[in-house]
Amino acid sequence: MKSEIEDILKRSQLSVTDSRKKILELFQKTNAALAHADIEKKTGEHFDRVTIYRTLQTFLEKGIIHSIPTADNSVLYALCKDECAEGHHHDDHVHFICDECGTTYCLENSTIPEVKLPKGFIQKRADVVVSGICEKCN
Ligand SMILES: [Zn+2]
Ligand SMILES: [Zn+2]
Ligand SMILES: [Zn+2]
Repeated sequence: MKSEIEDILKRSQLSVTDSRKKILELFQKTNAALAHADIEKKTGEHFDRVTIYRTLQTFLEKGIIHSIPTADNSVLYALCKDECAEGHHHDDHVHFICDECGTTYCLENSTIPEVKLPKGFIQKRADVVVSGICEKCN
């Protein structure tokens, strides 16, 4: 797992730092979306808010993680698949939020359906969030 993390960083031409390694590791372990506060809670003893914030911004720019908007206007982050690269995200999948545990998952195999827009409208992004009960809570 360690070398995979270093691989991702190298591919993105990022130097391997403690914060980048730890935060990436956390994403891989969790396998679900994380809020800034979750990351802070789990790595807070090692890094301060600003470091975490900067690391997340770098990952976003490099196509390592993508952001997921939520109903309460907070932002969640989740790992991208390999298709994403610097400045080019292809995270056109549906997200699932569990009503019980509040976990948000990426449904990589469910693509957001194309929406037919009226003439003159231009789509910039689309977010589909399905809510319900996850596997663990079911
Ligand atoms: Zn992405
Ligand atoms: Zn759940
Ligand atoms: Zn996602």
